[in-house]
Amino acid sequence: MGRYSWSDRDTVEDCKCVDIPWLAEHGYFGGYNSGTITWTSALSGKSSIGIEVYTNGGYGGDYIRFRYTQSSTLSGEKSDLDYTAQLVTTPCNYGGVRYWFICPLVVSGQACNRRVSKLYLPPGGKYFGCRTCHNLTYRSCKEHDKKVDSLIRNPARLAALLQEKDPTQTLFWV
Ligand SMILES: [Zn+2]
Repeated sequence: MGRYSWSDRDTVEDCKCVDIPWLAEHGYFGGYNSGTITWTSALSGKSSIGIEVYTNGGYGGDYIRFRYTQSSTLSGEKSDLDYTAQLVTTPCNYGGVRYWFICPLVVSGQACNRRVSKLYLPPGGKYFGCRTCHNLTYRSCKEHDKKVDSLIRNPARLAALLQEKDPTQTLFWV
């Protein structure tokens, strides 16, 4: 999997990410839209999730529905997941609205409810949630990590890594 043994916290770059600008760009807002998001990773291959986006402003409010199957990294047991995260809007300066996710996670009995533009699914995680709930850090914080030293001592491995594409953030519209 896309997990690094030297990491004690997952980084944003290791995660699957669904973000508002990407959904807007691909025409998800306005009425009902559904589709599939597929990620390709050099380390773990292809994986997909199904999404449905309801933005009718109806009684139930606007929301995004996530549907996917996730395997536990510990037991390998598969879970079929099907849940929603609320969408809210704020007015834009020049008219129209911008959408936000409300983080759907509950941590230590407290609903998060943070308004965010990105939701992340960490490797081995079950649910999309905000960066704070998933305790994510950025890889750039880890520049002085042991891995960097070992790569410098192993220039061939470094050259090989530099030829790999970014394994985590390639999104394809299907
Ligand atoms: Zn959260």
